[in-house]
Amino acid sequence: MGAYMMRIWCVKVARNFLFYEEKRELSLREEILVRIMTYQDIKEYAESVFEYVRGVRRDLHRHPELAFHEEWTSGYVEKELQKMGIAYVKGFAEYGIRGIIESGKDGETIVLRADMDALPIEEDERHEIKSEIKGAMHACGHDMHTATLLGVAKILMETREQWQGKVVLLFQPSEEVWPGGAIRMLNDGVLDGYTPKIVMANHVMPDLEVGKVGFHGGTYMASGDEIHIRIKGHGGHGGVPHLLTDTVLTGAQILVALQELVAREVPANIPTVLSFGRFEALGATNIIPDDVYLAGTLRTMSEEWRGRMKARIREVVSALSTAFRVETSIDIKDGFPSVYNNPELTEQVRQTAISAIGQENVVNMEVRTTAEDFGYYTQRYPSVYYRFGVGESGNVHTAQFDPDEESLKTSVAVMVAAVMDMCKSKN
Ligand SMILES: [Zn+2]
Ligand SMILES: [Zn+2]
Repeated sequence: MGAYMMRIWCVKVARNFLFYEEKRELSLREEILVRIMTYQDIKEYAESVFEYVRGVRRDLHRHPELAFHEEWTSGYVEKELQKMGIAYVKGFAEYGIRGIIESGKDGETIVLRADMDALPIEEDERHEIKSEIKGAMHACGHDMHTATLLGVAKILMETREQWQGKVVLLFQPSEEVWPGGAIRMLNDGVLDGYTPKIVMANHVMPDLEVGKVGFHGGTYMASGDEIHIRIKGHGGHGGVPHLLTDTVLTGAQILVALQELVAREVPANIPTVLSFGRFEALGATNIIPDDVYLAGTLRTMSEEWRGRMKARIREVVSALSTAFRVETSIDIKDGFPSVYNNPELTEQVRQTAISAIGQENVVNMEVRTTAEDFGYYTQRYPSVYYRFGVGESGNVHTAQFDPDEESLKTSVAVMVAAVMDMCKSKN
């Protein structure tokens, strides 16, 4: 009897001594080693790790940690990687972890990223699986993302004879708060020495049905920069404006002029938003104050126009300050860059998803003017950021957000299938 037949025979004998659940695991995990995994196998494998993935999600959900404080979460991930026998390095952006699964064969490098931080929101009392930390909640689904990546890691580790190349796992802290964990991990050299074929991440999508995923090739999410403008003049009695410089009127002129940049200078096919939510002029009915402060956000879908808008904002503010005889200072805090999905790779992953879960479960998504620090990876490496449906779960960033955990089966299966398709073993 050859080694191959011997293996199958051992599996068959072993099965007869096991109960159903164990039998199912053994048949999956052993049988796939002697044949090439099909999409059906991947889905069944994702089902077989579902209880594990859901358990991780629940543990993380009960212990949310805010950005820059993910110590417990990071320790949890570390222990899981240890249990799986996956090599890792920790300490990127303080609590970030880089795991690595080597197939032992030459091939592509695939990078998978999950974010780990929660939000300062008090969770809705009525939720069954609920935060146990006061004032913190996984309201953006990052517990779902970290659980997904651990599930994916488990499958890829166990099936590494099935693919070639290596998979880098990034468990990233602090996505929600500027400057974000992504840029800090990159600056800490988390991908130095690697040439990723793709950096991939997925994110929960409320109101998209469970079992579905969504893609958008090209620029998908906006950059988000903060604009702070301070106006300084010589205020005074509102009844004698010819004796003072009017900081409030200058602020109003600046607001209008900057909106005209969006309306008149940015091409209409580049979605751009400039919103000022703060206009501080603490005078009175008859007092023009010395100081006025404006704060707003600039969001756009093109890195080229992002740079040009920032330069033009400075020019317009400076010109108006000369015109109205006031001093202005402008501080633009660079937020996250736009999320750019490599079109060819997005199409490739989309086709994999269609093969794995069916055309009817793969949707196209509209662009969004929200921001995400995954943009930093997309500006440096070919990347794909896609969504998985979590059903009617309430909106993200609200106390009511309550994703359907069944969606974890799809999130795990599609990511594993995408890796397997890109790293098909040639032997
Ligand atoms: Zn969020
Ligand atoms: Zn998020």
